[in-house]
Amino acid sequence: MDFLRPRGLAEALAIRARRPDAVPIRGGTDLMVELNFDRGRPGALLDLGRLDELDGWDRDGDTIRVGAGLPYQRIVAELATALPALAMASRTVGSPQIRNRGTVGGNLGSASPAGDAHPPLLVSDASIEVASVRGARRIPATEFYQGVKRSALAADELIVAVHLPAAAGPQQFAKVGTRNAMVIAVCSLALALDPATERVRVALGSAAPTPRRCAEAERFLTAELADRRWWTVGTPVSEPVLRRFGALVAAAAAPIDDVRGTADYRRRALAVLARRTATWSLREYRQGGRTCA
Ligand SMILES: Cc1cc2nc3c(=O)[nH]c(=O)nc-3n(C[C@H](O)[C@H](O)[C@H](O)COP(=O)(O)OP(=O)(O)OC[C@H]3O[C@@H](n4cnc5c(N)ncnc54)[C@H](O)[C@@H]3O)c2cc1C
Repeated sequence: MDFLRPRGLAEALAIRARRPDAVPIRGGTDLMVELNFDRGRPGALLDLGRLDELDGWDRDGDTIRVGAGLPYQRIVAELATALPALAMASRTVGSPQIRNRGTVGGNLGSASPAGDAHPPLLVSDASIEVASVRGARRIPATEFYQGVKRSALAADELIVAVHLPAAAGPQQFAKVGTRNAMVIAVCSLALALDPATERVRVALGSAAPTPRRCAEAERFLTAELADRRWWTVGTPVSEPVLRRFGALVAAAAAPIDDVRGTADYRRRALAVLARRTATWSLREYRQGGRTCA
């Protein structure tokens, strides 16, 4: 197997165009598992480890650009205030070793329905910057996930960065696993309150063929908050409203029974996560502090 080590993005894209058998590798925390279990034998590995263009993050006004090669540990350490949901999700990924190697670019590259970065990207209205020798483009997160481990990334493209607005209001991420650490999600959920548009955004993971937004639940809670002038007056949101919100999130799921949990359990757990994260976020907005899992 060839091991190709380009020194910059342009060289990497040229290799990607001429060697369709070369599989990109960054942290290797997904790919090496596949290779170790002999699930595939690519003709070559395309090492993205020396691509400065994928490193680091920067901020332009309200928009944060997270390099595809930024490891989770740095997101936790450096972006917890600007990107709370993504930082909370990053904190739950694997172990310290995995968080030091694993990247959001790799999570997107694998496009597993259980990837923890996906629900936060969806509720943040993120877009994915991808590039090839043909040029660069941005794919909205809502259009990126196309099926189980399938994405809108073309065969000759690389993921370069993720662009997302800094949080303007409370955000939450919550995940159910078979234990507290080192687990792939049985189901997960991210929620964001956007004071500028007075809207609620909610997305689920590991409970459908792709991570997805829950449009009906979003519409329902957004309308309830508007009806009771919650954003300005703060009229409390009743328990039945939160339960209905949870039920609508559960209804947006299309889970399966598998070794990690049953479809029925996933729906129930999602309803609970939705209620909890909404309660925390609403309280945080009213109290101006942070409440989290
Ligand atoms: C013990 C263990 C625990 C884990 N726990 C979790 C967890 O809790 N939550 C979770 O979500 N994941 C978990 N994972 C999975 C993995 O750590 C994540 O998916 C991580 O984000 C992968 O990033 P990486 O940089 O290591 O990707 P890699 O393994 O390098 O690559 C993954 C895939 O993405 C492609 N790829 C990588 N970078 C790019 C790029 N820039 N452009 C195009 N394609 C690219 C690769 O070709 C490959 O197909 C775990 C893995 C292990 C081994």
